[in-house]
Amino acid sequence: MLSCDDVPAEPLPATGAVAGIDMGVASLATTSDGEHLTNPRHLAASADRLAAAQRALARKKRGSKRRRKAVARVAALHAKVRRQRLDGAHKAALALVRTGASRTCARCGHSAKENRATQADSACTACGHTAHADVNAAVNILGAGLALRRAAGAA
Ligand SMILES: [Zn+2]
Repeated sequence: MLSCDDVPAEPLPATGAVAGIDMGVASLATTSDGEHLTNPRHLAASADRLAAAQRALARKKRGSKRRRKAVARVAALHAKVRRQRLDGAHKAALALVRTGASRTCARCGHSAKENRATQADSACTACGHTAHADVNAAVNILGAGLALRRAAGAA
């Protein structure tokens, strides 16, 4: 199975964009712009189910058929939580960028509504950097994603 860990990470040229991101439990992340991202609730629900399954497993007799079933259930829930965490990280990175990123210059980090010249193009009013809006956003998304990965201790 292919996972995100299989993709080699390559160092990228610095964009100059800077964002402080604080990772927490109450909110998933708080950026230096004061943006809050909440932890997805479905993840907490799955974590509760996993904990219950682990408690149930602990009560099963070794070598029993019921214990084997309980092990499979715990493993499936672990995989589910892992998928949900990764999905949440992707969505959080995208949300960070959508709110700031379509208006944030990928080169100097200047954020202004005026940076988004048209739907297709972005032109920074501070440094004059011009790029296709999607390319500019992609650079910002990558930066936000890498910041999230570092903050999460690399999932
Ligand atoms: Zn700029």
